[in-house]
Amino acid sequence: MAHLERFAPSPTGYLHLGHAFSALTAWKHAQAADGVFLLRIEDFDYNRVRVEFEQAIYEDLHWLGLDWPEPVLRQSDNLTVYAAALNSLQEMGLTYACECTRADIKAATSPPVLGPDGIVYPGTCRNKGLASNENTIRLNMNKAIEHLGGASMVNRLHFTETNDGELHYFLDDNHLLTNCGDIILARRDVGTSYHMAVVIDDAAQNVTHVTRGQDLFEATQIHRILQELLGLQTPIYCHHRLILDKNGKRLAKRDDSRAIRKYRSDGATAQDIRAMVGLDW
Ligand code: GLU
Repeated sequence: MAHLERFAPSPTGYLHLGHAFSALTAWKHAQAADGVFLLRIEDFDYNRVRVEFEQAIYEDLHWLGLDWPEPVLRQSDNLTVYAAALNSLQEMGLTYACECTRADIKAATSPPVLGPDGIVYPGTCRNKGLASNENTIRLNMNKAIEHLGGASMVNRLHFTETNDGELHYFLDDNHLLTNCGDIILARRDVGTSYHMAVVIDDAAQNVTHVTRGQDLFEATQIHRILQELLGLQTPIYCHHRLILDKNGKRLAKRDDSRAIRKYRSDGATAQDIRAMVGLDW
């Protein structure tokens, strides 16, 4: 299969140096393998996306010297596909509706365990039998593990990580239950979630290699479970180092001083950006 990489930003702010590093790294991997680099716009979260941020993504990436095949997949065009996948998990009996707010979750957990999505859900609504309408839909992780043949089968599932040599990470049922828990499949406002949309799109676009930040490493166990439940292929992963600010903190979109376009308007070249993120080409 042809080597296919993707860069999948959400248009919820201007791209910063961390995005530049991620996009350039994925692009370089594709080039080195004589493969293809795709751009995907992860814009299902319509409360937070803005048209000008999407336009800025195209501009900034072109300015960095990247190109990609058109048309670009936008998640907002794909919502019915995510809904169908959600429906199939519901039909398998692996989901439940949840009415908890963030405050409810915080109040119900002591001490809170932090997972890839913040505080691990304490399971308050798991057996309430609430209606799906207007509620968050969660994966019942315990049932998902049972559905896949139980702990011993799940612990045989793995994904390949290539950031530092080639390593195989095996899933761990205890970790999934305790450190990921009943993750969100569909937010009540947007009808899907990052985890659902990303695994569906990567498979639908035949992405063979996912290059993304180390901060998403923990989420990959969830992605692996969803791929297995939905019968989707698993790409090879490379979770790269993060670009940190001078205090050692991960860059955030709200920190516009690190935005690519800020450096650009201050006179930086694309090569300066590459040098700033430690890429020597
Ligand atoms: N839209 C996600 C982000 O901007 C993409 C994550 C991924 O590459 O899977 O963080």
